[in-house]
Amino acid sequence: MSENKIPVSTTSDAVHQVDNHEVESAVRWVDQSQSEKVNLLGMTYDQLEAFFVRLGEKKFRANQLMKWIYHLGAESFDEMTNISKSLRQKLTQIAEIRAPDVVSMKTSVDGTRKWIIQVGGGNCIETVFIPEDGRGTLCVSSQVGCSLDCSFCATGKQGFNRDLTAAEIIGQVWIAAKSFDSLRQGADRAVTNVVMMGMGEPLLNFDNVVSAMNIMMDDLGFGISKRRVTLSTSGLVPQIDRLGQYTDVSLAISLHAPVDDLRDQLVPVNRKYPIKQLLAACNRYLATCADKRVITVEYTLIAGVNDGTEMAYQLADLLTDLPCKINLIPFNPFPESDYQRPSNNAIARFKDILSKRKYTTTVRTTRGDDIDAACGQLAGGVKDRTRRKQRYTLSHELRREAQEQELESKIAGMIRNK
Ligand code: SF4
Repeated sequence: MSENKIPVSTTSDAVHQVDNHEVESAVRWVDQSQSEKVNLLGMTYDQLEAFFVRLGEKKFRANQLMKWIYHLGAESFDEMTNISKSLRQKLTQIAEIRAPDVVSMKTSVDGTRKWIIQVGGGNCIETVFIPEDGRGTLCVSSQVGCSLDCSFCATGKQGFNRDLTAAEIIGQVWIAAKSFDSLRQGADRAVTNVVMMGMGEPLLNFDNVVSAMNIMMDDLGFGISKRRVTLSTSGLVPQIDRLGQYTDVSLAISLHAPVDDLRDQLVPVNRKYPIKQLLAACNRYLATCADKRVITVEYTLIAGVNDGTEMAYQLADLLTDLPCKINLIPFNPFPESDYQRPSNNAIARFKDILSKRKYTTTVRTTRGDDIDAACGQLAGGVKDRTRRKQRYTLSHELRREAQEQELESKIAGMIRNK
């Protein structure tokens, strides 16, 4: 850990970082527990300690609870045989271990799995597991929908309902790990990497995302290395700076364009935090990491929009001063979008230019396309509070009607000219 980070307490080699207000809220939960059960899933180590101290118990109970929940997948206090019967009964009365409900789990022909998870109020989120040689990456959602409106993203078109709680975020990892029956730490675990790259902008749900990531990395939690936990952001500059004060997970940015004019259209938040400011924030973030890191630059390639060779040269020039690797993501079509995926030749040309400029460049293979789990396709079920979904559905229908009319008049013209 960098010495710049917020001071931490440790119970293992893992890092426990916490805001004071997290502990206060844990204490508040205990106070409220008369009427409502406290959900212990999603509490950081420090919050659990505060919880047990408030109950008049020893701090080490937090250690026991975390092992039961995250190493052994316990869902009820009755299973916790190294905890006294009286404490188990007390916990059953005031607390619970509650993950959100799984509505469905689909498995793609390529082994990708997608869960649709219900989070109340008629809202659903999506979580995707992508198996690869030697690792398994879980793409986790942070919000129900997204308040930002990136033009190439299915989530953005759904509008926004609310932030997910820390329990709902870590619950996605818990559900996935349990579905593989591999909660135990070690070489055989299924989820080796987590990317905060599902539905939502994680930095707009800062506290809950940081708490959940701490549990992912905690040895008493999922014990995943900080290099294998990646937060992907559309580029919220102040929050990137704030993140650097709390943690040093890997950072990815959704860049998608080498110039502001185009990025303003693709990633509207660029109007507030233009590219130059974003790259400066990335370098500041790297400076807070104690070890050598690079930023992952994500670039969705859209046919005729940002996939030209000129753009590849501009991108190579732009990133000269940023330690980074580049991940090219061929656009994955979805119903509300008219964008097209580029040809394989265009993708190869773009990559080649960057590789020749010595950038480590990968092209993300489309996975889980048959179950709508590919990158940019996550839609869930969002009770939209922004009316954006309605607007997009309407404009998509109008566009489709216009296209049908155009086609009909073309056919009529051809028939007349025969
Ligand atoms: S790309 Fe990310 S930030 Fe942009 S709309 Fe989609 S979920 Fe939100």
